[in-house]
Amino acid sequence: MKSLSGRMTSMGRQCTKCDNESIIYQKYSGMHLCKKHFVEDVERKIKLTIRKHYNINRNETIAIALSGGKDSTVLLYILNKIFGDRPDINLVAITIDEGISGYRLDTIQKSKELTDNLGIKHVIRSFADEYGMTLDELTQKQRSYGACSYCGVFRKKLLNKTAKEEGATRLAIGHNLDDEAQTILLNHLKGDISRLVRLDPPKKIEGLTLRIKPLRSIPEKEVALYAIVNELPMDFSECPYAHEAIRGEVRDMLNEFESKHPGTKHSLLSGFQKLLPILAKEYPPEENKLNECSVCGDLCTGSLCQACKLLGYE
Ligand code: SF4
Ligand code: ZN
Repeated sequence: MKSLSGRMTSMGRQCTKCDNESIIYQKYSGMHLCKKHFVEDVERKIKLTIRKHYNINRNETIAIALSGGKDSTVLLYILNKIFGDRPDINLVAITIDEGISGYRLDTIQKSKELTDNLGIKHVIRSFADEYGMTLDELTQKQRSYGACSYCGVFRKKLLNKTAKEEGATRLAIGHNLDDEAQTILLNHLKGDISRLVRLDPPKKIEGLTLRIKPLRSIPEKEVALYAIVNELPMDFSECPYAHEAIRGEVRDMLNEFESKHPGTKHSLLSGFQKLLPILAKEYPPEENKLNECSVCGDLCTGSLCQACKLLGYE
């Protein structure tokens, strides 16, 4: 990770807020920040996102989707910092083992290390037990779509199910600003406006655990730097299927734009927030009209859920 921290540092420069040496230059804000003020900045923005978008009440259980990568590791660490001392808030980490050889076992190891250190309950569930097949086996068998399509749909389903079993009222996902900006742009490029509307922090829906994304305003590089300066145990390896995702092209495009025009990712997200109330009138979020899947009973928009469609049911 040396190259990453190297690229982001503004070594030798003074922190905008104190006399200490800065470790990062935030091009979009024009600030140089030292370690202490960088950590404070990240945590303040995350608390603000939680307050603004997700109204966490007393006696809630927050499930955290923990892959062992940098985003979910930072997410769990910060949520524990914010809520760990609250006796009325319960945290539980959920890790899904998709069965990706040469990759997932390392990240599971790292996530165990973290939950052990923090003393947080950790539930691990696998595709093999739930669907009778690992992702590797599944994608060898049927390849109508890319591996990530199967992976994403089945992981979401198993996460929701496990969160429900754990009595969770929220399911926290480690999506950062880059993920959000990519998804917004990707849906624009596909012309998929109803999916775009569904990105909105959803309101309460019967039978579904509410998803929350506390890192959505933090750029990916800052999430990585936060993990490094806090010396969090995490795995930096990349999933062997990652190159299949079209998202990669959108990511490169956005990164290039961001370096030429700092603030692009923030603008995409804030523009989207402004558009939402207008879009939502024309495209009412589909969560309002959910049915039960005729095979598995999960809530979905048609008569079959996405996972059962991918499993070949008709
Ligand atoms: Fe799953 Fe694709 Fe992510 Fe790999 S890159 S973990 S296959 S969604
Ligand atoms: Zn189903």
